[in-house]
Amino acid sequence: MASSNKKYACTFEGCGTSYATPSEWKVHEENHHQIELWKCPVGPCTHKSYRLVSCMRHITTAHLVTDQVVIMAKAEEGHVHEESFWCGFCCRVLRPELEKWMHIGRHFESGAVIGEYEFI
Ligand SMILES: [Zn+2]
Ligand SMILES: [Zn+2]
Ligand SMILES: [Zn+2]
Repeated sequence: MASSNKKYACTFEGCGTSYATPSEWKVHEENHHQIELWKCPVGPCTHKSYRLVSCMRHITTAHLVTDQVVIMAKAEEGHVHEESFWCGFCCRVLRPELEKWMHIGRHFESGAVIGEYEFI
């Protein structure tokens, strides 16, 4: 159990760090993790992944591509930097103008803990 004065926890799975102040937390997330998106580049498919491995898995299973080189090339083709962000407390993707730091910070302020966070 993390000490209770560090309520601002990193929202990236497996990182496990937490901070006492929103400013430290924001700097950590901005520097240490980038918000990225992989859109499936195949045909009319609208699949989106927030991780390279998920995108590659999708291309393999949904489009039956087995050649690793082709999978990598397709994943790279669909790689975009996304301004929208995922909130694992609301379990949805939110528009960038809401600002991740403000939005998720408010969850922490109202007592949310990272154990309740739904990772993507
Ligand atoms: Zn982190
Ligand atoms: Zn697809
Ligand atoms: Zn939320």
